[in-house]
Amino acid sequence: MRGWWQDLSDLVLPAECAGCGRSRTTLCTRCSAALRGAVPSRVRPRPAPPGMPVVFGAVPYRNAVRAVLLAHKERGALGLARPLGAALAGAVRAGLVDGGAEWGGGAGRAPGGPLGPVTLVPVPSAPRAVRARGHDPTRRIAYAAAAELRRAGVPARVLAVLRQRRAVADQSGLDARQRLVNVTGALEVVGGGSGLLTGIGRIVLVDDLITTGASLAEAARAIAAATGYVKIDREREADRGRSEAGPGKAGEIAGIAFRAAVVAASPESFEINRN
Ligand SMILES: [Zn+2]
Repeated sequence: MRGWWQDLSDLVLPAECAGCGRSRTTLCTRCSAALRGAVPSRVRPRPAPPGMPVVFGAVPYRNAVRAVLLAHKERGALGLARPLGAALAGAVRAGLVDGGAEWGGGAGRAPGGPLGPVTLVPVPSAPRAVRARGHDPTRRIAYAAAAELRRAGVPARVLAVLRQRRAVADQSGLDARQRLVNVTGALEVVGGGSGLLTGIGRIVLVDDLITTGASLAEAARAIAAATGYVKIDREREADRGRSEAGPGKAGEIAGIAFRAAVVAASPESFEINRN
């Protein structure tokens, strides 16, 4: 039985953490460590959808990480945006330092070197979901990640320029092919957004979670369609043993490319775990 003193202490000091318990504001050391306990690295669902950008993930999607993401997304645990943003910032940084031609290396290198200005573009939630939840979780995490990057000396900002142009079905329960069909053509850059995305250096699409990669592929397609940027798809080059869109190819705007970063991905999609 709970004593009155336990009820009282719950009011003052949350007894449980947002990852594994009820509190909306704090994380226990175990859940906090789970968000910081992995080295951000390349993630890739198998199979990866056509047009998916190179993606970096911070932590495997399981246990405490899953609970923290859900508490933030579905239960309004807004205080979790900061630790989730710190995790996302780690994935963004991993993508920034893993540079090379696809980031406009050489003559087209973005200003400021490998940690030059970066613009985070969040994958949008459905308007209906935003209304139901009272916030857009990925956008909120993106702002926290940008703040974390700036604290670390990386010029970063958020441009929330993507929106759904048509309704999509709930992705849960759909297989990879169905998800791709469901989201293809579903996003667009808002009016004026393409101008904001022009000549700004590096763009990193961000999301809380990658499942099949369909949403990130669609986000990349929408940005490419609005800006004329050609996404350098290293993974497809490797698959096909040739370069389809290497640096200097027709249509590429020098120095412009984009990547993606997510807080979490399935443990199997982390390349570091694959032998
Ligand atoms: Zn916990």
